[in-house]
Amino acid sequence: MIKESFFKELRAKIQSNFEEGGSHAFDHTERVYNLSLKLSKNKKVDLDVIKASALLHDIARLKEDNNEIECHAEHGSKMAEEILKEMNFPEEKIKQVIYSIKVHRHSKKIKAETKEAEILQDADRLEALGAITIARMFSTGGKINMPLYKPEIPFGKVHEGYHMDSTIHAFHAKILKLTPETFNTKEAKKIAKERYRFVEEFLDQFLKEWKGEL
Ligand code: FE
Repeated sequence: MIKESFFKELRAKIQSNFEEGGSHAFDHTERVYNLSLKLSKNKKVDLDVIKASALLHDIARLKEDNNEIECHAEHGSKMAEEILKEMNFPEEKIKQVIYSIKVHRHSKKIKAETKEAEILQDADRLEALGAITIARMFSTGGKINMPLYKPEIPFGKVHEGYHMDSTIHAFHAKILKLTPETFNTKEAKKIAKERYRFVEEFLDQFLKEWKGEL
């Protein structure tokens, strides 16, 4: 097992690739890292691969947000390979990290073929459910000046690309699609259930307040 000091060094090395604030600042990566370790408990998985994949999975996210690249999963796997090679991370583990990062993206719906990749997918998808997700959604919405809600537009209307009518519409288009049974591991399904219920409750109360019913 690789020493903790390696991952400390890796963290320091990659900081500049992340935005200061917003939904994909480094705190998102830290939560994915912690969730990945939690989901790895009592499982025969390579923790070095789990840790490196979690820390590096969104390394190219800012580039994608700035329209410099097309897919942060694809490009991020290449950046991860370079960084890990430079730090002498074992060759066979690098291959696994590349794979996990390539398939992590939930909008692409790729079936993960390794336990480590399944865990990264689950941890990253759990980050899209729950109280922090609600905060992240409105933070992103605020950044692009998106309305909180547009009651005149029905849910489920499909748009080209990333356009959403309001942040509440984005919950319907993205977050509510992450139903607990779509997670890979038993442990993640359980956490997802709790977090999904919380989001539903929030949306329910939001609409009641909007209509002046509560
Ligand atoms: Fe992520």
